[in-house]
Amino acid sequence: MARVMVSACLMGQPVRYDGRSKSGAALALARLQAEHELVPFCPEVAAGLPTPRPAAEIQGGLGDDVLIGKARIVGDDQVDVTEAFVAGAQQALAQCQAMGIRYAVLTEASPSCGSQRIYDGTFQGQTRSGQGVTTALLSQAGIQVFNPQQIDYLLSVLVA
Ligand code: SF4
Repeated sequence: MARVMVSACLMGQPVRYDGRSKSGAALALARLQAEHELVPFCPEVAAGLPTPRPAAEIQGGLGDDVLIGKARIVGDDQVDVTEAFVAGAQQALAQCQAMGIRYAVLTEASPSCGSQRIYDGTFQGQTRSGQGVTTALLSQAGIQVFNPQQIDYLLSVLVA
C-alpha cells in the first residue's frame, strides 16, 4: 500500500477558488482508495488563502519559473499572490516528506496543482502546457504527480 497525496478539491472538499469542489474523478479515486491511503491536501488553503478567493493564473512563465522568481501568480483582481502560492507548495512538499509520500494526484490546470496544463495568464480561459507551482516543487523533489485522467496508469505503476 502506498500513500498518495490528492488535491483536496478532488476528494469533495469545497476549497476551490469558487468555493466548490472538483467533480469527475470519484470513481477512479475510489479504485485508488481501495488499495492505497489517500491524503487530501490543498496548498492554497494550507497557505492561508480564503475560500472563495479570486481566480489566479501564472504570468510570465511556468511553475518552475515561479519558484526561482522569474514568473508570478496574480489574481483576476491583479493582486500578486505569488508568495502565498509558493508557501502552499512548500507546505505540500513538507507534508509529503513527513508522511513518506512519493506519489500525488492533483487537479489539472490549476496554477498550484496543474501537471500537464495550466491557464496561460490572460484570464481568457486558454491553457498551455506546463506545471503549476506545487506540482513543479513536488516534481523537483522526486514525487511523481499525476492528473485525474492518469489514475488508472498510477494504479499500474503502484502494482509494478
Ligand atoms: Fe484544488 Fe489544488 Fe486548487 Fe486546492 S490548490 S483548490 S487542491 S486545485
